[in-house]
Amino acid sequence: MFSKILIANRGEIACRVARTCRRLGIATVAVYSDADADALHVDLCDEAWRLGPPPARESYLLGDAILEAARRTGAQAIHPGYGFLSENAAFARACAEAGVVFIGPTPEAIEAMGSKSESKRLMEKAGVPLVPGYHGADQSDAALTAAAGDIGYPVLVKASAGGGGKGMREVRAPADLPAALEGARREAGNAFGDDTLLVEKFLDAPRHVELQVFGDTHGAVVHLFERDCSIQRRHQKVIEEAPAPDLPAAARAALAEAGVAAARAIGYVGAGTVEFLYQDGRFYFIEMNTRLQVEHPVTEMISGQDLVEWQLRVAAGEPLPLTQADLAVSGHAIEARVYAEDPAGGFLPSIGTLRHLRPPAEGPHVRVDTGVRPKDSVSMHYDPMIAKLVVWDADRASALRRLRAALESYQVVGVATNLAFLGGIAAHPAFARGEVGTRFIETHEADLF
Ligand code: ADP
Repeated sequence: MFSKILIANRGEIACRVARTCRRLGIATVAVYSDADADALHVDLCDEAWRLGPPPARESYLLGDAILEAARRTGAQAIHPGYGFLSENAAFARACAEAGVVFIGPTPEAIEAMGSKSESKRLMEKAGVPLVPGYHGADQSDAALTAAAGDIGYPVLVKASAGGGGKGMREVRAPADLPAALEGARREAGNAFGDDTLLVEKFLDAPRHVELQVFGDTHGAVVHLFERDCSIQRRHQKVIEEAPAPDLPAAARAALAEAGVAAARAIGYVGAGTVEFLYQDGRFYFIEMNTRLQVEHPVTEMISGQDLVEWQLRVAAGEPLPLTQADLAVSGHAIEARVYAEDPAGGFLPSIGTLRHLRPPAEGPHVRVDTGVRPKDSVSMHYDPMIAKLVVWDADRASALRRLRAALESYQVVGVATNLAFLGGIAAHPAFARGEVGTRFIETHEADLF
């Protein structure tokens, strides 16, 4: 096992990784921008290294500077967290060349799965069911238009390199396609430096169900069950839970089988998430994420495992801690993403100082993953997440009661938050009935605002 690692991230995920390292007796190096000189993640690590000014491009995205920090501090490995450099194949390659372990999959796996088109080609070969669509190399308007016609409207135009819902356009009729292609290309080019598009059948009422997978360097692959992340706003997750409510046993088993087959097909090493849409009793692969997900705590709560510990062990060359037969689901967990944003003002980030901050008390039923303390500020430079509030109980109804109580007791003064909005979802009878879907918020808008 490593004796010292560098955590190439900030906020709650840097804090979360640092906690597991402390428990395992691994020394930690934090990196920080000038905006984060006094941040909690810097406090929680044993050493800290300044990267540069606040903008991520001049700090957390500087792969060379981060590698230099690892060399100078004697860190043997780098944990990238999520976002920033976590899915950057060039950075993973640079780590390998510098003799520093990148805690994640191989650069080849990151590259293949970072492209939705390439990953769909690979999954198709592995026999994993896909959302019907076009993911070909011919990117001419004529080819994409013909494909959309074959697929049948409505279609969804997506950026192959996409993430966070960027570069996505729903198209209801052929007349709207040219503008959608142009817009999606522009957005994808700007955001990802790659304007390759794909076209998918637009499913009208899917659920988002994803499988947590783990592979080691000895060829073993297991899954740690599924998560339902259907409660989304603008294609971004708001509430996640595990296991997925009301999923027929056969569908659950088929999903696990397809997800594990997907990971095996690419010789996957480390933590990964295979994402599917589920509709009318069938599921369809949409993409694979080659990192620890934001929502991994719900999996930890129902499996009793520490996924960061698993990542560290696998990166150090150890076999997976458990076999599939050793893993079991216990109870139900729900996560709500608490944001400094204003639901009444179009969900714009709310920048300011957290003048008063009191999260619910933590215990066996409540976990709060956060990167901020009272008097810290939410800056304009980064994701304005305040915390991930995670609850667990023996069954979904009890977990939901815990979520409502925890949301009600969460106190934040100084910035606007989405707490009341989250509370509205948690209190909604349709959510209580497990009637989740990616259009939940849209459908129940009148009750939530
Ligand atoms: P990103 O990588 O930008 O997050 P994804 O492909 O993972 O994009 O999709 C994000 C979300 O967009 C999904 O969880 C789902 O809600 C919606 N979505 C994606 N593909 C489809 C589709 N073919 N039909 C309907 N909704 C979709």
